[in-house]
Formats: sequence, C-alpha cells, structure tokens
Amino acid sequence: MINNTSINHRELYRLPWNLSDNAISWLEPTSACNLACDGCYRENVKDSHKPIAIVREEIETFERLRNADGISIAGGDPLLHPDIVEIVRIIAEKNIKPILNTNGAALTMDLLRELKRAGVYGFTFHVDSKQGRPKWKNKSEIELNDLRLQYAEMLAEVGDISCSFNSTVYEDTLHEVPGLVDWAARHIDIVHVMVFILYRQAVPKIPFDWYAGGKKVDMGALVYSDTNDRKVDLQSPEVVAEIRKRFPEFTPCAYLNGTEKPDHFKWLLTGRIGSKEKVYGYVGPKFMEIMQTMHHIGTGKYLAYERPKLTKKGRSMMLLSPFDRGIRSVAANYFKSVMTNPARFFHGLHFQSIMIIQPIDFLQNGAQSMCDGCPDMTVWNGELVWSCRMEELKHFGCWVRTVPQNGIVER
Ligand code: SF4
Repeated sequence: MINNTSINHRELYRLPWNLSDNAISWLEPTSACNLACDGCYRENVKDSHKPIAIVREEIETFERLRNADGISIAGGDPLLHPDIVEIVRIIAEKNIKPILNTNGAALTMDLLRELKRAGVYGFTFHVDSKQGRPKWKNKSEIELNDLRLQYAEMLAEVGDISCSFNSTVYEDTLHEVPGLVDWAARHIDIVHVMVFILYRQAVPKIPFDWYAGGKKVDMGALVYSDTNDRKVDLQSPEVVAEIRKRFPEFTPCAYLNGTEKPDHFKWLLTGRIGSKEKVYGYVGPKFMEIMQTMHHIGTGKYLAYERPKLTKKGRSMMLLSPFDRGIRSVAANYFKSVMTNPARFFHGLHFQSIMIIQPIDFLQNGAQSMCDGCPDMTVWNGELVWSCRMEELKHFGCWVRTVPQNGIVER
C-alpha cells in the first residue's frame, strides 16, 4: 500500500462539500443499461424505469434535504429512460444543473439537441476498456480516445455544454492514465473534466463475515462482488505518481477525506490552465477555495460543473495571482511563453479539472471508509444514501457490517 505522505492533505484545500450542502446529488431514474461494464455497482435490471412521478418525488427529496448546484442523472443508463428529456427539464426549471452520466451509446444529435433545449448543463461520459462496447472490444484506453473525441465533438457542435469523461482504473490499466491526461490536454477547449474512478469490489479478501442486522449474509449476491483475485486497494496517490511519470508538475489542489481516514484522498482534484498547445500550470489550494467560496456567496451553492463559456476564461483567472501560488506560476509561464512566441497570445486559455475518486476502502479492522461529504448521495425510501452501496439496501434492507471471523479486531 502506498504511503500517503507523497501528498500532504494538510497542504491542500478540503472541499467544503457535506451531507446537507454539496456540489451535486445523484439521481437514478433507471437501473437498466445497454452495456454491462466491469466494475459497475448497479445491477442491470430490464424495464426498471421509474415512473416520472417517482422521479419528481426523488428530486423534491433532494431539494428538501440537500442544497446542491447540480444533479447527476445516472443509472443504469439514463438515456434509456423514455422521459429523460422531461427529467432534465424538471431539474433545470428548479434552477439546478442537470448533468447526464451516460455511456453515450444511445446519444444521437437529435436527442442531444432536444436535451439542450430542455436545459441540460453537462454530460459525463463513462468510457473505458472494460465495457464490452460492441464496436470497441479489445481496444486500449488510448485507442478509446477516438470514441471520447466523437462525444466531445458532438457536444461542441451543439455548444456551451460541459463535457466530462470518467473511466474506471484497474491495476492493468493504470499505466494508460497518463495517456488520457495527455489526450485531455490536447482537447482542453472541448473537454472540461476527466474523472478516474479506482476499481473496488464488495468482498475483499479480509477475515470478516458480513452481517445485515443480526443476520449473516452472502455478499456474493451483490452485482459488485467479484471472485477474481484483483487489486482492489489502488489509492489516489498511486494514480498521481503514475501521472507524474509523464507530467512531473501535476499537482492536486483539493480533496475530500475518508470517513475513517482524514489523510486519505477519496476525491482528489487537480485544476490546470492551458491552451490546446501547452499546459501552463496547475492551480493551487487558494484558487479552489476562492472559487468555491465566491460561488457559494454568489449563488448559495458550491460549484462542481461550469459551462465552457466560463472555463475558457483562463486569462481572467490569472487575476487571482496575488492570492494563489499555483496561478502565479501559471501566469509567469504563460507570459514567458508569449514573449518567445507572441502568436500564443491569441490562443484560447482554458481551465480543466482532473478528479481521482477512491471509493470505499476496507480497513484492517473491518471498518469501511467512505467519502466524507459524499457528493453522490442518492435517494432510498425518502433518505439520502451512498449510491455506491445501494445494492446492500436493495438486497438486505440495511447496510452490511463486518464481524471478525476469529473474534479478534486488529487495530
Ligand atoms: S461514498 Fe460512494 S457514492 Fe459517495 S462519492 Fe464515495 S464512492 Fe461515490
């Protein structure tokens, strides 16, 4: 296991997101999907589209319990829901940003235009090499950049929609992450966020039994249990170390800690500014603190997604140089570069985020460390619950707990 001292959480900005006031919430209008991705934590259930009245109720539950800037509309694949346009419209009319989390397979230009008219704010496309996509089988992460580019160009054609990509990272695909970070830099004008989610499974090999209430349960019933012997404890600093092999200056600025581990990076955020030709540097913790705070003062909400018309204001962001070391260094690199080649002054400067997500960690003592201030809380029976563990509620009716098999709890 990597030593977390390679990044010091005390030197980063702790994102202010919490249970009742967060950047996003997580709506699942369907569990049906047109792919069967490895690492997915939702059971694919045919014909499981929720009626629009239930979806509306869940959106109202979010409104009642949680202040949020955006709602991720996930699943399953939300584009399969027959009322997806209406769902987007309902959210947008409430002045909340609707963000579609989709594999993109069902997206057409006509549907995209309809969604734009309904008020869609952004898309997060899940694209990775273990999805079994019909025309993309056995392609590497790097080869899949061609597909990512198709989706990014579709959004760019319609205009002013935030474009993000997420991919699950496995031990055997970790080495490809720098290639994706590089690709994103070259398309910084139309790709606004890259998200890397570290692979987890429900039943790691630890000497514990699993109980729901007082009853021992078989975790093999859950879709995300896996009997293959795979690495399930990849940590965010390992991804940073891999990226730094290609981009030594790659520097995260903000994080969410674990509920059990204050120095774990459950969500680790890096922001960079550049043109399509060159990345000028990485913003620091103060920059992110100012952005979150100003957005909250201005709109009453913490910020997650931003429209391209704002992310392309890289030059204006340099006005924050007096407050943030990172942005000072971006400005210095930029002006030095313009002096050597004045044509660069006319290149657009864009902001791009790279988020690394380290989901549930199983600790030696059997504790399960979650993301503190989880942004992806969804609704279950009128309550907010972790979307990554909702299968436990569906199958067993409550969260599952660990009990040591030998009766001894290690510290
Ligand atoms: S706790 Fe689970 S649902 Fe929440 S952000 Fe972390 S991985 Fe996602």
